[in-house]
Amino acid sequence: MKIRFLGACQEIGRSGVAVKVNGKNILVDYGVLVGREKGDIGFPMHFAQRDVAAIFLSHAHLDHGGSIPLFYVHGKVPLYGVEPTFAYSDILIRDFLKLSGYYLPFEYLDLQAMLNQCIALDYHAQLEIEGAKVTVLNAGHIPGSAQVLIEKDGRKVLYTGDINTVRTQLVDAVEKPPSDVDAVIIESTYANDDHSERQRLEEEFVARCTQVVERGGTALVPAFGVGRSQEIIMVLKAHHFQYPIFSDGMAIDAMQVMSRHTKGLRDPDLFLRAIKEVEWVEKWQDRRRATKSPGVIVSPAGMLSGGSALFYLENIASRKENAIFLVTYQVPGTPGRILLERRKVMIHGKTRRVEAEVDKFDFSSHAGRNGLHDFLSGLNKSAKVFTVHGAEGNCGQLAGWASKELGLQATAPKAGEEFEV
Ligand SMILES: [Zn+2]
Repeated sequence: MKIRFLGACQEIGRSGVAVKVNGKNILVDYGVLVGREKGDIGFPMHFAQRDVAAIFLSHAHLDHGGSIPLFYVHGKVPLYGVEPTFAYSDILIRDFLKLSGYYLPFEYLDLQAMLNQCIALDYHAQLEIEGAKVTVLNAGHIPGSAQVLIEKDGRKVLYTGDINTVRTQLVDAVEKPPSDVDAVIIESTYANDDHSERQRLEEEFVARCTQVVERGGTALVPAFGVGRSQEIIMVLKAHHFQYPIFSDGMAIDAMQVMSRHTKGLRDPDLFLRAIKEVEWVEKWQDRRRATKSPGVIVSPAGMLSGGSALFYLENIASRKENAIFLVTYQVPGTPGRILLERRKVMIHGKTRRVEAEVDKFDFSSHAGRNGLHDFLSGLNKSAKVFTVHGAEGNCGQLAGWASKELGLQATAPKAGEEFEV
């Protein structure tokens, strides 16, 4: 088999790998890289549609699937994944088209054509493509997230996608790689960083939300609509948070999708109980009421760069009994990062000081450094390792660790590079 790297090489964004079998390619992921400026969008390296036998989507995040509609502009290819990946992709790509449609080389009809070619798989189901055996394994990252294992002529290649090595409220931890794989393509997001211990983090977060409410305040928790906002609601419920929880925007769509696809969830009962108790906010008067009620508001726009989170921010920021708790990584330069570092926000073009309490909680859905090391430690000594999906030297760092500590042949590939396995 030949592996060709199309993107996410020493960066996070535009993931894409082509695995060549029988003269045709199995494409795994084809995402986008979204920059800070409007219209600043990067794509993986070009790949001709006629050379693709099938596409696998590891999970719905746009950096993994945002460019897939390109393959449906002039034709069709079967697209495989584990639900709710496609239902989420529908929400996320539609939203992406709404925000950036002008800059994208595909349109809503192509997304529709893509969704018509989706084939939903169960974890461990096996299928045959161009004489290769392909299996998907749980990746532990978000509901529906999958690793893709491709076997041909006794050789095995594993593409991890994004993985989490600890269980979260939503999903179980990643499945360990089979010990006899010949090559692993692994993410490197946190190759240089460990996360807080999960159980303690959850307890502390719920205790701090309780404190805010008991002093008469409201806690705003901006979180990505797909995945993280549901995780936060479940964390609150699992730790018996007694006060009102409000949720808004894309989180509502994502929640509805998830309640139709509970199979991949770790604890479907807890999930269904949790969503029953959440107040779903859809009107402006309800938003206003939420900001005045002691409770927690879980609102999309994880980095505070748009959406209803901005309205909430404006109303929450000025009272010191309130709090803003950030639960996702804040990219440097985004409003969320500026809030954390300088306790300032831009509202209607004016910089304002934030009186509310501000803090961050590291609820990552990616493996930390130790988790990544542990994942690679079970491989046999002849396995090749390719590190992708990492910024600021993290791909090189993980590859360096794997060669030095485990004696594996590890590389942080460049876009366009090809390797024989
Ligand atoms: Zn992801």
